[in-house]
Amino acid sequence: MKKKIEKALKNVIIIDNKNIIESGWVKKIDLLDNEIKIYLSLSNPAMHIKNKLIKDITHSIKNQNISDTISIKIEIKSDTNTKTKSIIKNIIAVASGKGGVGKSTIATNIAVTLVKMGFHVGLLDADIYGPSIPLMFNIENKSVNFQYKNGIMNPVTSYGVKILSIGFFSKYGQAIVWRGPMVTKVLRQFMHETNWGKLDFLIVDLPPGTGDIHLSLLQEIPLKGIVIVSTSQKIALSDVNRSVGMFRIESIYVPILGIIENMSYVLSKKEKCYFFGKNGVKDFSKKMNIFFLGEIPMLQKIREYSDLGTPVVLENEETRNIFMNITKNIINKLHGIT
Ligand code: ADP
Repeated sequence: MKKKIEKALKNVIIIDNKNIIESGWVKKIDLLDNEIKIYLSLSNPAMHIKNKLIKDITHSIKNQNISDTISIKIEIKSDTNTKTKSIIKNIIAVASGKGGVGKSTIATNIAVTLVKMGFHVGLLDADIYGPSIPLMFNIENKSVNFQYKNGIMNPVTSYGVKILSIGFFSKYGQAIVWRGPMVTKVLRQFMHETNWGKLDFLIVDLPPGTGDIHLSLLQEIPLKGIVIVSTSQKIALSDVNRSVGMFRIESIYVPILGIIENMSYVLSKKEKCYFFGKNGVKDFSKKMNIFFLGEIPMLQKIREYSDLGTPVVLENEETRNIFMNITKNIINKLHGIT
């Protein structure tokens, strides 16, 4: 019987082609008269991942021709880190297919909007290809200020947001060449060996695109959901399409909370000019069954303030209202999945 159960568990594959025995997630198997109890422990215990594991394990065990009268109980514990006392309620990633579509600008202004709403907020800049969060929060020279104490990192606080950036590990203008395992190691520290304290939201600025690094990232960080940013340009949307495919791969499934259209139009003599095309993101969202979270026009103020290192929502009412609506939509969507 035990052999059958172990075989069944080996058939449950997580990403990197490892099964749950190899990954060390299975801690104990108890075989009782009419019951099989399996205890798992993992560092990524988001609800949808737990549910999927329970479903896959049960299915795999039933495939081993085990009598229907035997009940299967699966207990999944979070492998919580004992070094820090961080309690993070909601981790949300901001993703894009392409670089330069405004992902970091939007992650920044959503984070600050959440602070203005009264939440405790952190921002983890995981964009290894171009970590621009330090610039947007005017802390690019502060890399020396994040400190280790007993091996624990302290984030840098700016405009009320607790920030850690992969950019803190590089000098301005220096190219960062990260290999997958290095990224995983640094992110693990960012997540589990950082004194985040109590956070209502941790926003993660993901690197654009799809790849091995994304897969390890998605495995390392227990995300509640993803917010996608795109322009309406065909080329940007075709890359978003690939990203959506990745988030919907069964083994790493992360709920997509919705999509934001950035740089929708430019106002020229009071007329809207749809520079990247009209309704591209809206049509895509309908086709892919993704909620449309809102649109942000191309505004000189947004560019100017991000270059100054001041989140534009703090200085400009028009953008403040736009981001307030988008952020409320994200919170509503989040309530829908938890
Ligand atoms: P990404 O993170 O996707 O690479 P960024 O957030 O760094 O993109 O944005 C790229 C550039 O576009 C930045 O200079 C930013 O200030 C500017 N930008 C982003 N969104 C807007 C907007 N809606 N209007 C004007 N400029 C914008």
